[in-house]
Amino acid sequence: MPKLALLGGTPVRTRPFARWPVFDDREKEALVEVLESGSWGGYNPVVRRFEAAFAAFHNVPFAASASNGTVTLEGALLAAGIKPGDEVIVPPISFIATATAVLRAGAVPVFADIGRDYNFDPLRVAEALTPRSRAMIPVHFAGRPADMDNLSAIARGYNLAVIEDAAHAHGATWNNRSAGSFGHLASFSFQQSKNLTAGEGGILIGSNEELIENARSIFNQGRRTGGAWYEHVRLGTNQRLTAWQAAVLLTQLERLPGQLEIRARNAARLSHLLKSLEFVELPPSDARVTRHSYYLYMIRLKPEKLPGVSKDAFLAALAAEGIPGAGSYPRPLYEHKVFEQYPFVRMSCPEAEAMCRESFWVSHEVMLASPPDLDDFARALEKIATSAGELAEYSKQDRAVR
Ligand SMILES: *Cc1c(COP(=O)(O)O)cnc(C)c1O
Repeated sequence: MPKLALLGGTPVRTRPFARWPVFDDREKEALVEVLESGSWGGYNPVVRRFEAAFAAFHNVPFAASASNGTVTLEGALLAAGIKPGDEVIVPPISFIATATAVLRAGAVPVFADIGRDYNFDPLRVAEALTPRSRAMIPVHFAGRPADMDNLSAIARGYNLAVIEDAAHAHGATWNNRSAGSFGHLASFSFQQSKNLTAGEGGILIGSNEELIENARSIFNQGRRTGGAWYEHVRLGTNQRLTAWQAAVLLTQLERLPGQLEIRARNAARLSHLLKSLEFVELPPSDARVTRHSYYLYMIRLKPEKLPGVSKDAFLAALAAEGIPGAGSYPRPLYEHKVFEQYPFVRMSCPEAEAMCRESFWVSHEVMLASPPDLDDFARALEKIATSAGELAEYSKQDRAVR
């Protein structure tokens, strides 16, 4: 039995995986163009060019860019008229911003559970409805679109605003329709780790011109499109995307379709390799998910097949074997300290809690790797499972230390 690298053995691999972000002279040229234009801020036409290109890529007519994918969520709630005391249904499994944006709008987050696909379970969302419900924020977790058929039907029935948090889902599709084209507004992030990045950045897209104009105005000091420079029609702030970011994003957007294909191909290969591992459970497949963007590749460890092995120990063992990019959430969002200070509602969320105990992700740069890299990944998982007994011992000590 080969000794685990975590316990002093030889790692499965020492070569690095793919680098992220990817760039070449095209990004450099785009940046020099902005530099020499002398127009470095949000009013350079490259910003509008990027907005148009990004909206078109998702088959949606309108877009308003902003400085990141957190303020876009906040702006979307305000643009949609969410008021203090309104309830907004959010999943407990997401990045913190999905829920704190609701708090920052003065509204009340209502946590409804996810399903085995890590997305909103529409039945749990329906149970969370009250006369105060005004909006829901489906997250397309990991880049797998949420069930927009059933979520949209609930929203129509109860007159809720739908704000898609598509921070993981650039280019993903549900029934061949873009994630980000179902809701009243959809928010994307271009933060460093995301599938499309300029280091920081965000955008709202949508088909309702008035909502997008409201959001654009909020991001731009309450100005209105076509208005005078010193004309301010609503309470806004300055959250404009800069020309530097837009120029890089336009170039990165050209790379996205090819990268989506590579990730999908690698994910299919990895799923094939992992199918034979009895301690691994992959998310259920769904024919309506016509393109998964694989911001994250999700893996669930079956606890009964790895007795005594903690997820943390498993991830430490994986990293020691030379496999980067594996991570997980330590707890559902409602367990973060911030929620001690604000009103919120928490429905029963057993799936979210199970996810935190049992599931982890592999981030998208690993999905840009070459096939032999993925073989190493599968080999590392297998090696760890073979030494599950030793790892269980380690888990016990690890817990004792804490
Ligand atoms: C990254 C992310 C955000 C926030 O985006 P930033 O650009 O980092 O502010 C919001 N929601 C989800 C689901 C994210 O992953």
